[in-house]
Amino acid sequence: MTGNEHISQEELALHAMQALSEGEATAVRAHLAQCALCRDEFAGLAGDTALVGLSVPQQPLPAGARDRFLERVAAEAASAQRPVMHESGGKVVAFPTRAWIPWAIAAALASVAVFLGVKNNTLNQELRDASSQISSLSVQSAQARQVLDVLTSHSAQRVLLTTNNASVEPTGRAVYLAESGSLIFQANHLKMLASDRTYELWVIPVSGNPIPAGLFRPDAAGDANVIMPPLPKGVPAKAFGVTIEKAEGASTPTAPIILAGATAAGE
Ligand SMILES: [Zn+2]
Repeated sequence: MTGNEHISQEELALHAMQALSEGEATAVRAHLAQCALCRDEFAGLAGDTALVGLSVPQQPLPAGARDRFLERVAAEAASAQRPVMHESGGKVVAFPTRAWIPWAIAAALASVAVFLGVKNNTLNQELRDASSQISSLSVQSAQARQVLDVLTSHSAQRVLLTTNNASVEPTGRAVYLAESGSLIFQANHLKMLASDRTYELWVIPVSGNPIPAGLFRPDAAGDANVIMPPLPKGVPAKAFGVTIEKAEGASTPTAPIILAGATAAGE
């Protein structure tokens, strides 16, 4: 393509697939900018390919790919110099193979580009869906973290409200969701323990043996938490209990039970 000549279809096809060198592409763009005829030609042939080009991040062709593509086209064209004869309505017609072989390749590449573009758009949509889920999850997660921070922070003020201020007896409060095996336990006014002893929390199931639900030692203020210990799911509890055990804990509770509370279901 030089001067005022129109751009060949092959070159337009290469341009649609971004297979032209930078210099050639610049020349083509310059020509397209001032030639409605070639613009129409390009729009018609590029069609979906051009749309894909707009919606997919542009990737430079690997080095040598364009040359291999052009060599392939040239080789195909050279081997098809002789017109191929086709039966058509009883008449034998010459089909200009030289003209259509580059087009077959271009069409195949355009189909691949369209397919990749559609796939890319689908993936983009999935990515958008996933990131909106992630942001909603991260909001929930941030709230959950705040709850945990309040529950577990050493600097949180823990105040037990009673009918009179005289009570300094140890207390514990368990919140339990049997279906997910989720347990949050808070204890206050616990007595200090010898260094070789620990408190141990127990889930007392409606049926079966007590399930160990975590070891804990009170802080200087006598407060302690057990947050989400590993527990089986779907075990209804009739009660919760706290015992004092050896530092490594126990698999069955040792009497006496220091703190105990029955669930409404277990009463
Ligand atoms: Zn033109």
